[in-house]
Amino acid sequence: MSRKDRIAKAATRTAAQARDTAARERGRSKRSTSASGVSPHRHCTVCWAPIPLKADPPVCSNEECEATHDKREGSRKRLTIMLYLFPAIAILLAVLTSL
Ligand SMILES: [Zn+2]
Repeated sequence: MSRKDRIAKAATRTAAQARDTAARERGRSKRSTSASGVSPHRHCTVCWAPIPLKADPPVCSNEECEATHDKREGSRKRLTIMLYLFPAIAILLAVLTSL
């Protein structure tokens, strides 16, 4: 076998391997999404247990999770109020001092 033949054969083999690997990767990624058998769902925001897509609030049926979610939601609302309240007070003070 000549040197040229050997190189040609090696190149063909490498190309075939690359094709094989690509095909395997494609198959894997397809499996992990649509063909995996896992239906679309969301996760409990506290313990990340799978819950139905339409669950509202997004927590599982665990009472602790519900309580934790309520607490978080409450502090989030307070934070939002403060986010608007403090600049409002600052503007009010600025207006009052300029009068
Ligand atoms: Zn949970």
